[in-house]
Amino acid sequence: MRAAVLNKPCEINIEDVPRPDISEGEALVRVKSVGICGTDVLVYKGLYKNKFPIIPGHEFSGIVEEIRGGTRGLKAGDRVYSRGSWGCGKCEFCLSGRQALCKDRIMLGVSTNGCMAEYVKVKSSVLYPLSDEVSFDDSQSIVSIACAINLTTKLKYKLGMNAVVLGPGHNGLIIMQVLRHIGADHIVMIGGSRESRIQLASDLGADLALSRKDPELMEKIRRLMPEGPDVVIESSGSAESINQAISMVKTGGTVMAFSIYSRPLDNFQINELYNKDISIVGVKGAGSYYEDAERLLQKKAIQIKPIISHNLSLDDTLKGFELMLDKTSNALRVVINP
Ligand SMILES: [Zn+2]
Ligand SMILES: [Zn+2]
Repeated sequence: MRAAVLNKPCEINIEDVPRPDISEGEALVRVKSVGICGTDVLVYKGLYKNKFPIIPGHEFSGIVEEIRGGTRGLKAGDRVYSRGSWGCGKCEFCLSGRQALCKDRIMLGVSTNGCMAEYVKVKSSVLYPLSDEVSFDDSQSIVSIACAINLTTKLKYKLGMNAVVLGPGHNGLIIMQVLRHIGADHIVMIGGSRESRIQLASDLGADLALSRKDPELMEKIRRLMPEGPDVVIESSGSAESINQAISMVKTGGTVMAFSIYSRPLDNFQINELYNKDISIVGVKGAGSYYEDAERLLQKKAIQIKPIISHNLSLDDTLKGFELMLDKTSNALRVVINP
């Protein structure tokens, strides 16, 4: 089969590799759609703890080619989506549905070969049936939608809350839509220099979408939310934004860290944290919310198509990573269709 093989950091080649054999409890999936996520970019740059060579990719959908000991009644020919990782199944985190926290977690494209290939081998229990009305391209984002739902389970208030989301990337735009679905009152999206993302946030339902450089940023937020937002969700990956979130959030509110941060935060505003009685919450992983995520797509409560900026062939996988790294490009969600 053909696969995008990352032989060392920043060196991807399309190679012919043996199609994986499966054992009892495993499945082989013909990959139809793969999203390049921030974790894949870290793997590509060699900043993640992974082995080389590796076939990257962990967020995908496809068709079951072969399955042994399937769960959920799946058989060859079925349309499926998948978890991106799985835990040991025995530790306290796995038993409470928080497999992303398992210390023995196996992650596609990190600790085992991933889905930027014609076929991928997974544990059969991580596959779910994909409804006919949900496209392969929409369902490659299910992991991220499930992560956003997991985030909302940690919110103190839902109905009528005022929220600010920092970072109109793929995940931020999904969180924004999930917040709307669960009953947020006002939602403000704050972006960086890429005007197109700010416009898209507005198109997808933000009450206000602003650049963080807007000189009247705080006044505009206060006009909509006089006490400040109940929750600020940091999804831009900039550590400094946590301080911005702390100063912006309402007294007694919540700041959520929902990114992988490449640098530690200097000048952490610990006195504001204390004086405003703020909760800071880290949110990692999708919990057990994959099927809920798929239902949101079925109901058309979440739009993915406008977030997909590029559909590329497997041959163009390298170009996909380069687009993701180019801060001047209009790349948002780059999807590979092997
Ligand atoms: Zn991911
Ligand atoms: Zn475990």
